[in-house]
Amino acid sequence: MESGLKPMDAEQLRENAHKMVDFIADYYKTIENFPVLSQVQPGYLRELLPDSAPTHPEPLQHIFDDIQAKILPGVTHWQSPNFFGYYPSNSSIAGFLGEMMSAGLNIVGFSWITSPAATELEMIVLDWFGKMLKLPEEFLSAGKGGGVIQGTASEAVLVVLLAARDKILRRVGKNSLEKLVVYASDQTHSALQKACQIGGIHPENCRLLRTDSSTNYALSPNVLNEAISNDVTSGLIPFFLCATVGTTSSTAVDPLLELGKIAKSNDMWFHVDAAYAGSACICPEYRHYIDGVEEADSFNTNAHKWFLTNFDCSVLWIKDRNALIQALSTNPEFLKNKASQANLVVDYKDWQIPLGRRFRSLKLWMVLRLYGLENLQSYIRNHINLAKHFKELVAQDPRFEIVTPRLFSLVCFRLLPPHNDETCATKLNHGLLDAVNATGKIFISHTVLSGKYLLRLAVGAPLTEERHVNAAWKLLQDEASALLATL
Ligand SMILES: *Cc1c(COP(=O)(O)O)cnc(C)c1O
Repeated sequence: MESGLKPMDAEQLRENAHKMVDFIADYYKTIENFPVLSQVQPGYLRELLPDSAPTHPEPLQHIFDDIQAKILPGVTHWQSPNFFGYYPSNSSIAGFLGEMMSAGLNIVGFSWITSPAATELEMIVLDWFGKMLKLPEEFLSAGKGGGVIQGTASEAVLVVLLAARDKILRRVGKNSLEKLVVYASDQTHSALQKACQIGGIHPENCRLLRTDSSTNYALSPNVLNEAISNDVTSGLIPFFLCATVGTTSSTAVDPLLELGKIAKSNDMWFHVDAAYAGSACICPEYRHYIDGVEEADSFNTNAHKWFLTNFDCSVLWIKDRNALIQALSTNPEFLKNKASQANLVVDYKDWQIPLGRRFRSLKLWMVLRLYGLENLQSYIRNHINLAKHFKELVAQDPRFEIVTPRLFSLVCFRLLPPHNDETCATKLNHGLLDAVNATGKIFISHTVLSGKYLLRLAVGAPLTEERHVNAAWKLLQDEASALLATL
């Protein structure tokens, strides 16, 4: 090659990777200098970069310069301590080192034989994590169940929906696909709908059952029972229930125990999506939010959200791994090997959509070992305390209202419209959202519940401290005053 840079020369790797680590460390050191929400316009980058790839190699320093000048302005800084939007997506030193090691080894671990350590570490680490969450034994790998790392919660719900679909179709016959019905609340993540589309569920058979403020947006067992009996009367076949612990809009918690009993008595698959809030359940005082998980067939939480594990790492536990394997396994000649043929090993390719898979358990293993349970619990508690603190600040200002109870580290609130004039409430809060985000000092997001437009402040970035929460509140108050003065 023309340049001195070979694909994988050990000394060149050392030199260049050191530079990269320095660049990233400097980024974290100065992260608060950037506007949290990127302020660029659509298409900004095309004007800054050439039309085609270079013919000749370029020096690394030129690329660093471009990252600084052209890429970072187009980055929304999820790791900023002032990022309060959506839900967090944590990075950590442990997670970062795990990603580095995974990139370093760069194995493709689809079958046990392709890197026995990748499969075996994943099984062990997910047993550790399952025990930290006090999941029932059936979810651990010693029996018929076990854990698997998926890329996202969306893939997790898709694979279990496919497992559940094929399981019921084996019983009622393939011709009945059109009759299968899925149940969840209207607060359920849109990933479920996507899974239904991919899984061939009839578009009219995805029941997103109504919730309201009387249950704080949790799914009511009575509403579920009624829907199921209507469908059974119409000759349809209920087969899948998805409950959520910590909904995406407002952290609503569906009553797992009661819902699970209904699922069981109707022979339905019961999936629990705790993508964001699951992490909090490693603390004994929050574990009750997943009471009833013993009734579930599958349980999912995103370690990449609020558990210091760099994206992506979505953890799915399942009680009957054969259901998954029956839906997703293939056995082509070119992958045949002694260990797999003898059924001595787990081949994770049969637990997921793609064949290829990364060595993601390394980073979760490093997170668990470098922090330990007690530090992880304090990490969660600290964010929850900061959210409680923010809620008290909002509650002290009569111009604002808290809209839903704060259960974890999310606060849902809004600016009250002057003279209780609800017709201008949406515009007012939309205006406030745009105003604070346009300053670049913080980033928050919004949702709509029962027609009410409201603001969401989710604490959860690894660098967030009380002073950041205080400053965010001060900014919200100042921008609210400015907005109200224009009315
Ligand atoms: C974030 C979230 C999801 C989607 O997560 P992905 O991993 O991006 O697919 C699903 N469900 C809930 C409750 C979430 O909070």
